[in-house]
Amino acid sequence: MARYVFITGGVVSSLGKGIASAALGALLQARGYRVRLKKLDPYLNVDPGTMSPTQHGEVFVTDDGAETDLDLGHYERFTGRSAMQSDNITTGRIYKNIIDKERRGDYLGATVQVIPHVTNEIKNFVLEGNEDYDFVLCEIGGTVGDIEAMPFVEAIRQLGNDLPRSNAIYVHLTLMPFIAAAGELKTKPTQHSVKELQALGIAPDILLVRADRDIPVDERRKLSLFCNVRPSAVIQALDVASIYDVPMAYHKEGLDSEVLAAFGIEPAPKPRLERWEDVAHRIRTPEGEVTIAVVGKYTGLKDAYKSLIEALYHGGIANRVKVNLEWIESEIFEKEDPSPWLEKVHGILVPGGFGERGSEGKIFAARFARERKVPYFGICFGMQMAVLEAARSLAGIDKASSTEFGPAKEPVIGLMTEWLKGNMLEKRSAAGDLGGTMRLGAYVAHLKPGTKIAEIYGANEISERHRHRYEVNVDYKDQLENCGLTFSGMSPDGVLPETIEYADHPWFIGVQYHPELKSRPLEPHPLFASFIEAAVEQSRLF
Ligand code: GLN
Repeated sequence: MARYVFITGGVVSSLGKGIASAALGALLQARGYRVRLKKLDPYLNVDPGTMSPTQHGEVFVTDDGAETDLDLGHYERFTGRSAMQSDNITTGRIYKNIIDKERRGDYLGATVQVIPHVTNEIKNFVLEGNEDYDFVLCEIGGTVGDIEAMPFVEAIRQLGNDLPRSNAIYVHLTLMPFIAAAGELKTKPTQHSVKELQALGIAPDILLVRADRDIPVDERRKLSLFCNVRPSAVIQALDVASIYDVPMAYHKEGLDSEVLAAFGIEPAPKPRLERWEDVAHRIRTPEGEVTIAVVGKYTGLKDAYKSLIEALYHGGIANRVKVNLEWIESEIFEKEDPSPWLEKVHGILVPGGFGERGSEGKIFAARFARERKVPYFGICFGMQMAVLEAARSLAGIDKASSTEFGPAKEPVIGLMTEWLKGNMLEKRSAAGDLGGTMRLGAYVAHLKPGTKIAEIYGANEISERHRHRYEVNVDYKDQLENCGLTFSGMSPDGVLPETIEYADHPWFIGVQYHPELKSRPLEPHPLFASFIEAAVEQSRLF
């Protein structure tokens, strides 16, 4: 039977609870255990699909087509296990399920209440589908004391009693702020946060304490005494240079041993951490560096591009180079010549995006990359803009546009109304719900043998994750191919263009899917490894 680790946060938000959970997952895996991570999100949206990336950060898409919290990306990057729809739930979805049941009459006339109906629904979600795992790590979003997280906290409290003894433990992540005037790290916020948790019926087994400097022994003793945890269970979590240092850092502080001890697992199996050591070493001692321009929107909020940033770093890990990112708002290129901005970089990446604003600037960036033979990586919207660029500059289709921007005379990018997935017909309509018309999740693509992309993957059939409404219009394929733009990957039914490239360019690839979602530090995605390799080549020309 799976053992459960419930992870809560206190004092302030943004302490890195997702990364801490993911890193603990990696450490337990390194000891040979099978680990699953789940996230409970307190907000009322049914999923983050319709939330603005500027508020909530990136929407992470799973193979099974769920739009989920970006923490699932951390889980996947640290554990290598592909996340699923059933790893993330929100208050909105819980209530939606309950209200649907209530309307159907499933509650047989009972009064539907937070306890037990909402808490039962949460508990079912936590317990479901864990047969194949030794540990389930369950992270509760938000901070203890938030009104909206109360039912989740209550549900995990109940689970402490529902599960067999010593099958569930509680880890609480807090912060010790350094007060400069006193020259001290302070324990009080943690004490208050633990009190709050205790008032809700949960006594944490382990405190993971973020601090910007070493926590003195006396302060640890104090936390242990006032927060009712063993001295060895006060684990300091210091700031580290890279998130991929976190597993090793927490291991050195004894987090994983303490978790196993709390479950009474003794002696604990020895961990194998060589791969994490290698990644940390590669990041600390790069043999060179490259600069990549990311030309997009929302470049101010880096969380909107979380997986992309990580995938580029993974490309750096694969090539033993440091990757510097130059963030450029594409709208700038609509007023200014992009050359001075782009001449100094070793690669240009246009990421996914929505809406017309800034699109002309992205088209400029694609043109610059094509003409100047700078490595170009167009992802989703970035591929669509590269296709519009080719249509206008090479095929002479001046009015080439996307129907995403309004009715188009030449809909080179448009809404496909139907295609085959396996042997099922999938349909889209412009009138569908905002969130309902996307092509979401894993789709197979066939790569043309002999193309650069087939060589990079070392395969002719791939599966990658999608999140978009519009497609490159296959009706323009022949015309564009005659101008040198190869449609190197297509959906199995040949209706949806999936990848493009120029044969006469050192590295110019567009993909309709999001390869960044599947890149991991221990297994960098081949496209990102290859793109950074091309950037390294480009840097030699400078
Ligand atoms: N806006 C484009 C579409 O919906 C691209 C989406 C994306 O880049 N994820 O097709």
